Amino acid sequence: MKWTKTHLYTLKEAPSDAEIPSHKLLVRSGFMKKLAPGLYTYGAMALRAIRKFENIIREELDKDGAIEILMPVVHPKELWMETNRWNEMGAGLLKFKNRNNHEFCLGATHEEAVVDYVRHDLKSYRDLPKNIYQIQTKYRDEIRPRFGLMRGREFSMKDAYSFDLDQEGALKTYDSMYKAYQRIFDRLGLQYRIVQADAGNIGGSQTHEFQLLADAGEDALLVSDKTQFAANIEVCPAIDVEVYQPASQAELPIEKFATPHQKTIADLEKFTGIRAFELVKTLYFSANEDVSAKDSSLKAFAVLLRGSDEVNPIKVKNLLGMTNPPQMLTDEEVRQVTGANPGSCGPVGLKIPIYADNGIQNFKNYIVGANEDGFHLKNVNHGRDYQVTQFADLRMAKEGDKCPESDGRLKSYRGIEVGHVFYLGQKYARKMNGVFLDKNGKSQFYEMGCYGIGVTRTVQASIEQSHDQDGIIWPMAIAPYHVHICHLDPKDAAVNGFVEAVAKELESKGVEVFIDDRDERPGVKFKDADLLGFPVRIVVGKKGLEGNQIEVVLRRTKEVSKLAQDQVVQKAL
Ligand code: ATP
Ligand code: MG
Ligand code: MG
Ligand code: MG
Repeated sequence: MKWTKTHLYTLKEAPSDAEIPSHKLLVRSGFMKKLAPGLYTYGAMALRAIRKFENIIREELDKDGAIEILMPVVHPKELWMETNRWNEMGAGLLKFKNRNNHEFCLGATHEEAVVDYVRHDLKSYRDLPKNIYQIQTKYRDEIRPRFGLMRGREFSMKDAYSFDLDQEGALKTYDSMYKAYQRIFDRLGLQYRIVQADAGNIGGSQTHEFQLLADAGEDALLVSDKTQFAANIEVCPAIDVEVYQPASQAELPIEKFATPHQKTIADLEKFTGIRAFELVKTLYFSANEDVSAKDSSLKAFAVLLRGSDEVNPIKVKNLLGMTNPPQMLTDEEVRQVTGANPGSCGPVGLKIPIYADNGIQNFKNYIVGANEDGFHLKNVNHGRDYQVTQFADLRMAKEGDKCPESDGRLKSYRGIEVGHVFYLGQKYARKMNGVFLDKNGKSQFYEMGCYGIGVTRTVQASIEQSHDQDGIIWPMAIAPYHVHICHLDPKDAAVNGFVEAVAKELESKGVEVFIDDRDERPGVKFKDADLLGFPVRIVVGKKGLEGNQIEVVLRRTKEVSKLAQDQVVQKAL
């Protein structure tokens, strides 16, 4: 490919909204251009890198028998109502109406769409397992799109969805996807960590994130210097929260029904159909810094009481065996009872009905989720009524603290979440009636997993991890071209002949060659070659050719070799 035949224009300055190196470099190199916040046009070069990464993903997933399909970007409201995510996803889901006044959204993720695709076909145990994926544009109306492709509104994701007969099968698939992801990210040759997003003993749920290490990463990781232990501490407090029975019934603060701390996280999950992780995560987004991580269990419960569409008072009522659903305290009431702003005390209040034989007699105000022992919910004491294991303290942990698994120490890193594997269980199958007949002719829900890779995010994250002050240093596996020839005398027939011959020979060996044949000064060509960042640079001009001294430069190390004409191809391979 010749530069003069492309549409590629480099810039001296990065735009003012580019805060991090990879964003600046992708724009300065002319590889991508902003259309509007969170929306980018990928130029031909960026597209080559993206396609290469897509193909790495395809190769590794296809090895395990995954099936590639392509689902629509536009989804009807009815589908998302089946899981109630139409409401739950909030403003992140971009919604609109068509000319017939039918409501639609842009696919932010495709669980609903994929279950709809398979549910009429997966009728028998003989149809399972299946693992289906696509590489598709996603739209999420991110509040603050930034860092270029890192947090876009429109971006490309590889999303896979697995369907298994039972939990054992689903966890096996999870494991093989985990390994496929390792192969995928290993092929980029970059530094990454696999971290627990939340895991352990929460209702058999499992999830891991693949994090590329980079200072600009939005996630905070703690990694053991001794074991494989690594966690994303932003979400870690949900891990390993144990809630145990009070010593006796008499200790219960309220006699008429069981209290939150009598239920385990697993119970909560069973009754609500929601993973505790999600509950706690919701809370963390709404809770203030000063809320102690020690109260995760009660906080999780507090979230239950918030009364969103899915987590509604009726479910809480059933969960606690109450006669009537609890009522939420207003913000003013929380202030009255706690003396603090609801925002700063984080958890919510609940009005507990006091029953008499003839019905509700009175309401008593209780606040769940104490910052201090015995504070918010009367008689509920940390350590006695509920316990939080070492894991939950991780949010408070810092570099140098003890690793929870060994006598090693924790090191902190910043990470960019490039991949995410998730065991879903029967959540979507139950909501969308995803059933099959087992060997005994009995109807069963299938078990699912979902697995995402941010394709465009990964391409940019690779640059974030691999660049220097002069420009990009592409990992070989996704470099738009392998060899960059700085052709210093495009009007000279002999040099032209040599460049053509070298390019032809390299291309015959599978090496992709880019030739800078512009009418520019050598200094401009060298600067741009550094900026574009292809792994090998060959510099050929009239003088070099006549003196039989051709320069070959390796982008990563800047190592320069001066070679005879017949040695150039060998060095560039
Ligand atoms: P984040 O925590 O960064 O918002 P997420 O957990 O919401 O990401 P997932 O739902 O797990 O994202 O989606 C799978 C993958 O899609 C992520 O691991 C990430 O690589 C990518 N991704 C998610 N949101 C974006 C975005 N706004 N722009 C680019 N890539 C994204
Ligand atoms: Mg997100
Ligand atoms: Mg995330
Ligand atoms: Mg994620």
